[in-house]
Formats: sequence, structure tokens, C-alpha cells
Amino acid sequence: AEPRLVSVRATRITPRLSLLVLRDITEHERVEQMRRDFVANTSHELKTPVGAVSLLAEAIESAADDPDQVRIFTARLSAEAARLGLLSSRIMDLSRLQSADQLISQRTVAVDEVVVSALEAHAIQADAAGVDVVRGGQRGLHVQGDPQVLSEAVGNLVANAIVYSPKGASVGVGVKEVEGAVEIAVTDRGIGIPEADQERVFERFYRTDQARSRRTGGTGLGLSIVKHAVQRHGGDVRVWSQPGQGSTFTIRLPISGPPEELTPGGRKER
Ligand code: ADP
Repeated sequence: AEPRLVSVRATRITPRLSLLVLRDITEHERVEQMRRDFVANTSHELKTPVGAVSLLAEAIESAADDPDQVRIFTARLSAEAARLGLLSSRIMDLSRLQSADQLISQRTVAVDEVVVSALEAHAIQADAAGVDVVRGGQRGLHVQGDPQVLSEAVGNLVANAIVYSPKGASVGVGVKEVEGAVEIAVTDRGIGIPEADQERVFERFYRTDQARSRRTGGTGLGLSIVKHAVQRHGGDVRVWSQPGQGSTFTIRLPISGPPEELTPGGRKER
């Protein structure tokens, strides 16, 4: 697409300057294209549950004389409505994280608190799935950023680890300091991810065939949210996985010192 854009640039500028203009236009085009893609595949993903809701409403109307049928359709209608709710809140989270002008807060955040709140948010889910979530590793580490965004990111990894694990399995959440970074690793012994899918699982709405067939009710947006959340904090997220053996997702974030209040009178605490 780049050569097409050459015609857009002003003619009376030096070759160096015209190159700058060209690059700027290309970046603008790229962002616009991303926005168009996002809207297109979001609308596509919304079509299925919206269609289901209207079909179920019709079904309820025509089954009005049969209370048992009405009850079944109503339950399915609530499930579809809940799914739409989840989908729309995730779409909003993702679009907020993707837009550069939406600032996220920058304060000193205790990694322990991020992990604890992520685990608390998924305690009921873990219980219901019969999965034991075990927390380990180093304590007392800090990063800079937005605690809510970070705990949602870790929470999404924990939620996936639970969903894709068999009943009775355990999931580990570990924290350690590595090369000036804090690493948060979420490990499961679940279904794993085929190698060909490992890069793609971070794309929005991407789900492996296996995940689709398991009817886990996912949105395909969780990992995309994790990726954008972590990137906005100057970090990255990676996956290691063996199909049938399990997966480890690691988030790395630049490490920060403890908050000021913890060092009264300028005394350095180590
Ligand atoms: P979903 O809502 O479908 O879980 P995600 O974006 O969170 O969406 O994940 C994308 C896909 O990556 C999932 O559909 C699944 O195929 C795969 N995946 C993510 N986490 C795991 C995991 N811990 N084990 C196996 N597969 C996973």
C-alpha cells in the first residue's frame, strides 16, 4: 500500500522531509486500518448472540402455552444476554487500552496486591471448576502503572488457566524478579496450545479449534486485553505450551522501587 501514498506528499520539500511525511501517513493509515478491522470483526462477533436473542424471544412467544418450554428458552435467553454483556464490556476494555489518548494511571503498584485481587476475582470460578490455584514466588515487588488494569490482565490469565484445566488440576501463579523486570507466570496442566496457534492466541477473537469445540463460552478477547494492558505498561506477555501437557503465560513488567512512604526520613530500606 505504501507506493500509493507517495502522491499525497507535498512537492516542495526536500527528499528527507518527504520521507518523514510518507512515514507519518503510513502510520496514520495503519491505525485507521486497525480501527476499521476492529469495528468490522466486533460487529461480526456480535451478530451471533444478537441473532440468538431475537430467535429466543420469538420462541418464547410461540411457546407461551407450554411453561416448561418457556422456562428452557428463558434460561437460554438469559445466558445469551449475559454473554452479550461480557462481550460488550470486554470490547470496551480493549478499545480503551488500544486508544493512545486514554491515559492509564501511573503509580507505584504492589505486585502482591495485583496478584491477590486477580485470584480473589476468580476464586468462585476456581472452586466451581474444582481447580486449586496456588500462589508462590517472591513477595514485596513493585511496578509502575494502573493496579486495576494489571489485575485484570493477570486475572484473564488465571481465568484461562482454570477454564482449560481438567477438574482436580492445580494452577500456579508465581512472581519473581528477572533482569530488572518483574515476571508473573501463570502455569496450568491443561489442554495446551498447538504450536501453530501460540502466536495467534493474542489476536482479538482468535480461539483455537479445541477451545471452540469445548464450548467454554469465551470471547476470544481475554489474551488480546492482556497483551494491550501489558504493552501499555512497557512490558510483554509470552506463552510456552505443550499440547496435552499445559501452558505457561508470563507477563514481564519493568520493576520499580517501593513507594516513597515506605522509606521515611530518606532511609533506604532493602
Ligand atoms: P477465550 O475467551 O476464548 O479464552 P482468550 O483471548 O483468553 O479467549 O484466549 C484465546 C484462545 O487461546 C482460547 O480460545 C484458547 O484457544 C487459547 N488459550 C488461552 N489460554 C489457554 C490456556 N491456558 N490453555 C489452553 N488454551 C488457551
